[in-house]
Amino acid sequence: AKEEIGKPSVFSKIIKKELPADILFEDDQCIAFHDINPQAPSHFLVVSKKPIPMLDDVQEEDTKTLGHMLIIAKNLAAQEKLVNGYRIVINNGEQGCQSVYHLHIHVVGGRQMEWPPG
Ligand code: 5GP
Repeated sequence: AKEEIGKPSVFSKIIKKELPADILFEDDQCIAFHDINPQAPSHFLVVSKKPIPMLDDVQEEDTKTLGHMLIIAKNLAAQEKLVNGYRIVINNGEQGCQSVYHLHIHVVGGRQMEWPPG
């Protein structure tokens, strides 16, 4: 929730290996792991190592990291064999249904998605 902004997030704990996660990939800029509450047969998160609370807080200096995270997301989608497509989501803020205030990209796939989203 929004009151979590500024406190170390659950994702910071995963980054520091203080909390376990099913890690798919990690480098100096990001870490990717399976979502604990999957919304599709394949659902993983690409999380920035820099503790940026939300997309609204992204600065020009974060351009490379965000691009990199998208490249990692599509590489992992291929690795997870999401050959028929998948969805990339960034929830931003309350009405965007953001629950963890640490910037992350959702990759959801393995079933037919619907549009528009609910
Ligand atoms: P948001 O709603 O903020 O975009 O998404 C946060 C996501 O993080 C949710 O899909 C939720 O299931 C996932 N999540 C929350 N806590 C944990 C955790 O401790 N481990 C993992 N692997 N995923 C988590």
